[in-house]
Amino acid sequence: MSEICEKCGLPKDICACEDIAKERQVITIKQVERRFGKMITMIQGVDPKSVDLKELTKQLKQKLACGGTYKNGAIELQGRHSSKVRDELIKLGFSSDTIEVR
Ligand SMILES: [Zn+2]
Repeated sequence: MSEICEKCGLPKDICACEDIAKERQVITIKQVERRFGKMITMIQGVDPKSVDLKELTKQLKQKLACGGTYKNGAIELQGRHSSKVRDELIKLGFSSDTIEVR
């Protein structure tokens, strides 16, 4: 017997919940103030199943020449880079419709 999806109750091989989730995926970029007034740019919502987030973090750090890490499902870059991050994500093939800058 095939596994049953918890969301829709259909067997997993015919359920479309994951596809829908991908289409609705929204990447959010926001600037957050950390201790001592340090600003970081956080990127959340990138699907770890379809994107190598460590590699993406590395690419963004190189492009923006800043420090950063990937942790707890979010990319954190040091400094204020919202609009540049958006541009870089689009260059890397993400749809501008799915990117939200807060
Ligand atoms: Zn489902």
